[in-house]
Amino acid sequence: MASPGDKELADLQRSFSQSRRHLEAQVRQNERIWGGFRQIEIQLIGAQSLGELVDTLVTRIPEMFPAVDCVSLACLDEEYELSRLMATFSNRQTARFFIPADRAWLEGLVSPWGKPQLGRCDEQLQARIFAACGLRVGSCAVAPLTVHGGLIGCLNQGSQDAGHFSADSATDLLGHLAAVTAMCIDNVVNRERLKRDGLTDALTGVANRRFFERRLREELSLRERRGNSLALLLADLDHFKDLNDRYGHQLGDEVLQQVALALSQGLRVSDVLVRYGGEEFALLLPDTSVDTAIEIAQRLRTQVASLAINGPHAEAVAVTASIGVACLAPGTGPESKPGGGAGMWLLRQADEALYRAKAAGRNQVMVARQAVAGR
Ligand code: GH3
Ligand code: MG
Ligand code: MG
Repeated sequence: MASPGDKELADLQRSFSQSRRHLEAQVRQNERIWGGFRQIEIQLIGAQSLGELVDTLVTRIPEMFPAVDCVSLACLDEEYELSRLMATFSNRQTARFFIPADRAWLEGLVSPWGKPQLGRCDEQLQARIFAACGLRVGSCAVAPLTVHGGLIGCLNQGSQDAGHFSADSATDLLGHLAAVTAMCIDNVVNRERLKRDGLTDALTGVANRRFFERRLREELSLRERRGNSLALLLADLDHFKDLNDRYGHQLGDEVLQQVALALSQGLRVSDVLVRYGGEEFALLLPDTSVDTAIEIAQRLRTQVASLAINGPHAEAVAVTASIGVACLAPGTGPESKPGGGAGMWLLRQADEALYRAKAAGRNQVMVARQAVAGR
């Protein structure tokens, strides 16, 4: 017969396994939520246009999170630039959930330093951010979107359930999604601008030489004002004519696309990668010392050399690049006197280093003899 002590122990065990099941269910639920966020994030990062990005937000969030019935995106757009980009997007249904906003409108809704705001959705709010939804939103989350500390918009999620978004809910997941969304909007809008202004290379999708010349001028004048350093890498594919002759131009084109992708991996937002000429790429690295520029060049050289590219008979195609490095040290030196001297100097130095990398056997990094100038 069970003693009273045994019964207490059995009760305790039951309650313990109940709490454990509850906790496990909670963990599984959290993992599902994070998994959902991650999938949305990957799609946001891959969006090729602002329209695609808005489409991902308004369709994927309600799919992943069934309690969310409506999503809209408001963006600061005082010159209607983003509206014009949205106008080229074919899915007009999606475009209705994009709200062009002016600063006063946006600041009336969110603050750049604020956290996502959760709570009841009154009629005024419904009219402002969920007019396109066609259903009555009971509660909502409005998350500010910021880039470099500046407010660029807000991401709005609505639920018909008046209790779904409440002021005491955790906001870290929403804040995280807002941060990724803001970064992706900035990237995709910049990319669309380059395309629109004819500053992108059609084959590789990276910026072109015209863009490089414009950015070089901007970076040089920034350096004059701030006194930071500026490094330049010139990368040229080795024996690329032979590769074309042996495998055909089409494979040559594919190699150029893969190389552009490899060179773009791991760069900072402020770095500039361009297709400078046929099989030549330039990288402008602001605020980078000569030692760091050499390290980056070595990493990029290795990335190119380890590309797995196959020929028509599945044979491995060797692709390598030679890279020349030059750097303008902090401060202003004789080379940056009026007349555009600093830019020409930087290009000449990097080109001279590249020439020596070729002469020394290719697939290597060389630094300009006068690698550092500026003091
Ligand atoms: P090196 O190692 O000295 O740089 O030799 P290389 O053969 O790479 O240099 P060269 O300047 O003699 O040849 C560059 C080749 O790049 C010639 C040209 O056919 C090829 N090329 C330039 N633009 C393109 C392009 O858009 N697509 C393809 N497939 N090839 C290109
Ligand atoms: Mg060349
Ligand atoms: Mg070459």
